Amino acid sequence: MFENHLPTAELQALDAAHHMHPFTDGDGLAKKGARIITKAKGVWVTDSEGAEILDGMAGLWCVNVGYGREELVEAAARQMRQLPFYNTFFQTSHIPAIQLAKRLAELAPGDLNHVFFNGSGSDSNDTNIRMVRRYWQALEKPEKNVIISRWNGYHGSTMGAASLGGMKGMHAQGGLPIPGVVHIDQPDWWSEGGDLTPEAFGLARARQLEEKILEIGAENVAAFIGEPVQGAGGVIVPPATYWPEIQRICRQYDILLIADEVITGFGRTGNWFGCQTFGITPDIMTVAKGLTSGYIPMGASIVSDRVAAVINGSDEFAHGYTYSGHPVAAAVALENLRLLDEDGIVARVAAETAPYLKAKWEGLAAHPLVGEAKIVGMMGSIALTPNKETRAKFASKSGTVGYICRERCFANNLVMRHVGDRMIISPPLVITPAEIDILIARALKSLDETLVRINAEGLN
Ligand code: PLP
Repeated sequence: MFENHLPTAELQALDAAHHMHPFTDGDGLAKKGARIITKAKGVWVTDSEGAEILDGMAGLWCVNVGYGREELVEAAARQMRQLPFYNTFFQTSHIPAIQLAKRLAELAPGDLNHVFFNGSGSDSNDTNIRMVRRYWQALEKPEKNVIISRWNGYHGSTMGAASLGGMKGMHAQGGLPIPGVVHIDQPDWWSEGGDLTPEAFGLARARQLEEKILEIGAENVAAFIGEPVQGAGGVIVPPATYWPEIQRICRQYDILLIADEVITGFGRTGNWFGCQTFGITPDIMTVAKGLTSGYIPMGASIVSDRVAAVINGSDEFAHGYTYSGHPVAAAVALENLRLLDEDGIVARVAAETAPYLKAKWEGLAAHPLVGEAKIVGMMGSIALTPNKETRAKFASKSGTVGYICRERCFANNLVMRHVGDRMIISPPLVITPAEIDILIARALKSLDETLVRINAEGLN
């Protein structure tokens, strides 16, 4: 459809003149111009110059079934013809929302049997803030309203979700966090573990939750929220000791546990949900992204029997979005879940492609620039370092080396993102072993070129 588009330079000029991008330095955009993506298939995206780029990030961690699945296009078109929109407010419902809620209840672990639909991951987490506060209020414990989350976590961009997140740069720009949200440290052993073993460090970081609860008083704490694997924070895979201890503490002090599965849901960690990979059963799960493989926006809060009984059993929960349970999004989600299941996509990740990728990814640790190489399922990170033994950081400002590496990847037609001086991947779940070989070869070439730049510019 866009084959006869304007020349790239003209598109870039129009883009810089009129399009305000999320998380983008506008000045840099005006000087360099955006890379404009025109089409995609499988794990490959094509830019306006015709370059074929391996998308190691599945868009923004979301295109789980890969690009170009006609089944999803058909599902959307069918639903648009049948019923393009109806709301789910005021005791109305429709078939796609009913079917999707039932399917999610089947897939979700434990007694997570109830679904509140939202438009995105951010507004799902806003729903969660309101829901857990409403839960304790309905139980006549309105003072139990503080939510504990983690520094360097990411839960979205709305005022509520960005408050839950622990991105200090985001807090600084908007008078955040909102009252009643406090943070503890993240379980990043490579950067912050010091002399502790990863196992001991995982326990120590989980016990910060207990310390914080005791400091605030359990009678004042509503919930803890965390991503099973911190994604935007740099794919921080926690030590195995971490999550079971978090769950133990939440249960001991009667604190609701919210797992933000916006990235880790729908096969990303090798199971349907990250909480299954890490052996926990939350009270609420946030999902979005892979729910529709990004083909259309949708998010949801999947809620336990215990929480739903209180929310449904009290006065009306005064919350919701026009697009809660949007029928077209729900139809796409249902078809996407069918593909993930019946096409064996999730099963293949666990049995075949994730083990293959893990072996190759961990092999990157042999590169002189790479310290820790961590991966779980189809999300991985490498920490770039001038000294593997001491786990040192570069003397240059954090992110300088990561940015160079990301640019080298881009030049080599591989999308890898950088978070500070960590490089991260999260490819479509349909990536094949042959495509994994290409990803690794391009990553290695980019690392070599980064090393040359570091040495030339004396950046270590
Ligand atoms: N939660 C997590 C863990 C995320 O990674 C993201 C987005 O990256 C969000 C929430 C926010 O989702 P959205 O961008 O759909 O609002």
